[in-house]
Amino acid sequence: MTKQKKVGKILNKFIPQGATIGIIGGGQLGQMMALDAKQTGMKVVILDPTPQCPAAQVADEQIIAPYSDIKAIEELANKADVLTYEFENVDLKAIEDVANRVYVPQGTHLLYITKNRLREKNFLRKAKLKTAPFLPVHDTAGLQTAIKKIGYPAVLKTSEGGYDGHGQEVLYHDTDLTKCADILTSGDCILEGWVPFELECSVMVGRNENGEITVFPVSENIHHNEILHLSIVPARIPPRLQEEAQQMAVKIAEAIDLRGILGVEMFVTANGEIYINELAPRPHNSGHYSIEACNFSQFAIHNRAVCNWPLPKIELLEPVVMVNVLGQHVQKVRAEIKNKPNWHFHDYGKAEVRHNRKMGHVTILTNNIAATLEEIDNTGIWND
Ligand code: AMP
Repeated sequence: MTKQKKVGKILNKFIPQGATIGIIGGGQLGQMMALDAKQTGMKVVILDPTPQCPAAQVADEQIIAPYSDIKAIEELANKADVLTYEFENVDLKAIEDVANRVYVPQGTHLLYITKNRLREKNFLRKAKLKTAPFLPVHDTAGLQTAIKKIGYPAVLKTSEGGYDGHGQEVLYHDTDLTKCADILTSGDCILEGWVPFELECSVMVGRNENGEITVFPVSENIHHNEILHLSIVPARIPPRLQEEAQQMAVKIAEAIDLRGILGVEMFVTANGEIYINELAPRPHNSGHYSIEACNFSQFAIHNRAVCNWPLPKIELLEPVVMVNVLGQHVQKVRAEIKNKPNWHFHDYGKAEVRHNRKMGHVTILTNNIAATLEEIDNTGIWND
C-alpha cells in the first residue's frame, strides 16, 4: 500500500444520536469512548476477544472474537453506522474490505503511517517537523553503519509492534551492540539519535471530516520503567513552548488529514527545542485528565469528530494531575478512597490484576501542582 486510499464510500456523514458506534478493541480506551458515547445517546458495539472486557462492561453489545477475525469485523461493520478503533494494531486490509458498508471516517492512512516508526518519522520529516535523527536498520552490519552516522547515545527500536519501551535498546557504546540481536531478528528496525530532553510532553488534537480542529492543553508526562506514571497539565514549560507544541500537533493533524483524535508525544530540551517522538492515532493515556479537567474530554472529542459533529474550543477548567494505577497499586489505591474526597478514582474493571498492568487512574484537580505532587508522593503508593 502506498499513498492514502480514501477508504469508505460514505463521506462527510453526520452520525445522529441513537446511531451505533462500532469499536475495534475493548480495553480502557474503548471503555472511556463507550462511556462518553452512551452518555450522548449512542449505541456501542465492541469487538474484543476477552469476554466482559472493560469496554464491553459499558457497551450495548460485544462480539467476542480476535481483532483479526475478518468475519467478526464484517459482523461489526453490519451492526455499526460508524466504525472506529482504540488501538493501532488493527488489520488495515479488513478495514478496507468493510469500508463500503460502514462509515470509516478515520480511513487507514493514519494507521498505515503510525503503526510503523520509520514511516511515521519519514512523514514527520516531510511535514518539516523536528524529530531525533534516524536511519532504517535491517541487520547488524546496517546497525554499525547507522551508529557511525548517528553516534552514541542512540536508541534501536523495532519499526513495528513495540510499546511502553518494549522492543527498544539504548546504546551507549560498541559493547551494547551485542544486546541488539533479539530486536534485529524481530523485524525491520530504526536507529534514533538520543534527544537530551528536559521533559516529555504530549498534546491531543481532534479533527473532523469538515476540517474543524480542536487542540488540548499540553500535558507533561513522567514515566516510571517506561510506563506513563503521571501527567501534569498544564505542562511546566513557558507559554511560548506550550503554544508551539499545540501548533505542531495542529500541523500534524492537517498534514495527515486527521479524523478523530490523535496523541502527539514530544520531547522538550533545556534550550527550548521541541522534538516529535511519536504519534498515537487514538485517545492516549496522557489525555485522561481531560475527563474532569476540560470542558470536553479527549473521548468526547474523538466521538464528535468521527460522528462529524462540530468541534468545540477546548478549555482547561482547572490545573490537574493524573496518576496511573498499575496492578501493584490497586489495593493501596482502593484503601486510599476513604481519605481522599477530592480524588477522582477510575477503575477499568479488568478481571486480572497484574504487575505493571494499567488497571485505572486517579485524577486530581488542583490549584497547587507542587502540593498535589507531594500529596501523591506522601501516600507511598507509587514507590513501586
Ligand atoms: P517510545 O516507545 O518511542 O515512546 O520510547 C519510550 C521512551 O524511551 C520515551 O518515552 C523516552 O523516554 C525514551 N526515548 C525513546 N526514544 C528516545 C530518543 N530518541 N531520545 C531520547 N529518549 C527516547
